[in-house]
Amino acid sequence: MGAVKTAHTNGVAARGRTRSGRSRAWARMGVMSLFRDDGIVLRTQKLGEADRIITLLTRGHGRVRAVARGVRRTKSKFGARLEPFSHVDVQFFARGSELVGRGLPLCTQSETIAPYGGGIVTDYARYTAGTAMLETAERFTDHEGEPAVQQYLLLVGGLRTLARGEHAPHLVLDAFLLRSLAVNGYAPSFGDCAKCGMPGPNRFFSVASGGSVCVDCRVPGSVVPSPQTLVLLGALLTGDWETADACEPRYVREGSGLVSAYLHWHLERGLRSLRYVEK
Ligand SMILES: [Zn+2]
Repeated sequence: MGAVKTAHTNGVAARGRTRSGRSRAWARMGVMSLFRDDGIVLRTQKLGEADRIITLLTRGHGRVRAVARGVRRTKSKFGARLEPFSHVDVQFFARGSELVGRGLPLCTQSETIAPYGGGIVTDYARYTAGTAMLETAERFTDHEGEPAVQQYLLLVGGLRTLARGEHAPHLVLDAFLLRSLAVNGYAPSFGDCAKCGMPGPNRFFSVASGGSVCVDCRVPGSVVPSPQTLVLLGALLTGDWETADACEPRYVREGSGLVSAYLHWHLERGLRSLRYVEK
């Protein structure tokens, strides 16, 4: 389902669609628009007594923050649907003709597409991996309202895999991190030299150079990972789960360290939640 702007209406018409005083006040101030999109809830923050600000990564509008009213009341089913990891279909009510840009939109309805949180929050390893995935997705979508469809699809697929327990959580996380780097233009090389293209395997690995480098292109700070580790990382990047699942723990650990170093180099500062991931 794409992002569909379902209605574009003036203040008088919009007034009948909502109950809250704030949205009536907004409606009096001018044009209001309704938007519908599906997204993953990345984060929620308290707002006032009963409300929350919900941060979502949506299919059609990229990262969006919206106000959900009344969701912290204990009997709010609406609120229960808008929890981190949930895949939801949401209706937004925004000032002006754009979803993002003129104050936070209101989130007025939501339907659950898949409650991935249920299969994630009950398991510590899944939860920490999932939290790092949500945080990474947020960090890679800096500009609110800018579509990031590939990042969105990666997140949906990653959370589904994690919730179903199909592979070890830290492998799911590392695959997600590598593919997130790739769709954002930072695909690391785990074979051919990232600088001169010398066919792999190559012995050296340099985060600053873009991954595997040959003996001529190595730079100070290059490391020499196990060949099996580079095979694992290549498998995670391309989705070769048979190879990844069979990998020995010591190479998995070394691989996680390289992925983490590579990610941090590109995101400039560390992801808080990565520290809690059990390796
Ligand atoms: Zn080279």
